[in-house]
Amino acid sequence: MFRKETIALIGDRGICDEKDVAPAIHYSAVFAASCEQDFVEMSTRARHPQNYTRYGNPVHERVKALVAALEGTETALVTGSGMGAMCTTLLALLSAGDHVIAQRRHYMSTANLLDGLLRRLGVESTLVDQTDPSAFGRAIRRNTKLIVLESPANPLLELTDMAPIAAMATSHRVLTIADNTFASPLNQQPHALGVDIVIHSATKYLGGHHDLTGGVICTCHALADRIWHTHVTLGSVLSPMDAWLLLRGIRTFPVRMERVNRNALALARFLSRHPNVSSVGYPGLRSHPQFDLACRQMRGFGGVLTFRLRTGPVAARRLVDKLRISQVAGSLGGVNSLAIHVATMWGGTRTPPCGVDDIPDDMVRYAVGIEHVEDLKADLSQALEAAG
Ligand SMILES: *Cc1c(COP(=O)(O)O)cnc(C)c1O
Repeated sequence: MFRKETIALIGDRGICDEKDVAPAIHYSAVFAASCEQDFVEMSTRARHPQNYTRYGNPVHERVKALVAALEGTETALVTGSGMGAMCTTLLALLSAGDHVIAQRRHYMSTANLLDGLLRRLGVESTLVDQTDPSAFGRAIRRNTKLIVLESPANPLLELTDMAPIAAMATSHRVLTIADNTFASPLNQQPHALGVDIVIHSATKYLGGHHDLTGGVICTCHALADRIWHTHVTLGSVLSPMDAWLLLRGIRTFPVRMERVNRNALALARFLSRHPNVSSVGYPGLRSHPQFDLACRQMRGFGGVLTFRLRTGPVAARRLVDKLRISQVAGSLGGVNSLAIHVATMWGGTRTPPCGVDDIPDDMVRYAVGIEHVEDLKADLSQALEAAG
């Protein structure tokens, strides 16, 4: 088996025309059969009837092969966004009367999905402290169908010890899903830890350039078959152009991610020595309460870090404005660094109660890009100075 750096380049060989070195964009909403009998065969195939782009497109097939290989799963499905992947998976596997165990802290829209849409459709969820693996087992009920995990979780970067939770879930015949967006498949492989379904917002590290919206669901053939009908019914389709951009992004994903890991660790160490910074949140720092777990579960620690200012909330907001390299934007995973004042972003989008009340108002989230680390340090330095 090839390593991830090589898989990103050749993991889709043989999917389409072998003569293409750079893949073609298949900009067609519908594909013709060679004859009536061929159409019958295409239409009756279980999961990949490639006759209509909502059902599948040759560029999708390449992306699916690549991300499944990176995550180490049998197969994958692609969607129009990360939330498309999360909604499709949860709606496919849950019915009224079912129970879900999830974390107190999740990506905001995932928390809203559990607390809003799913609750309205009769699915109840119990939110537990992700840093306590035994809390998941204690929350199991007779009607528990799914456990949703996310590690590191936004914005405080708490980790979830996935292996024991996945083992416990399997013994209760409960499925596990992990949102692996923050870590990325280079740094962490939840499926190897026993998780059944791995979800990505490809908008972030996989795409990597802040120019597309996409999602991926990585799992085994049997579960992909179960999710497939909901997938084509909900219609969260990845456009062929975005699929092609994603494919192009994935080619350099391992190289970018290595640089991002290195930059982020260096900046986290730099910030923790700065007199105006009271604390830094980053799983790769010894000061992170779950540093041992981070070392066990992750190969690199990702590109998102948070820091709090001794000088208070006003200075934190001012700092974000004073930064010259990073822009003020609420995303992560791209080549450019982005910064936000955390409480402002969460305050604007939260629908309580989903465990966001304890976010300090002097905290900045910095999503590290691939700029030169010394330039990023200098920029943070001058902004810390100027913010007072
Ligand atoms: C961005 C993000 C999502 C949602 O992805 P979209 O592509 O914006 O729909 C889900 N989970 C995590 C952890 C994210 O960062």
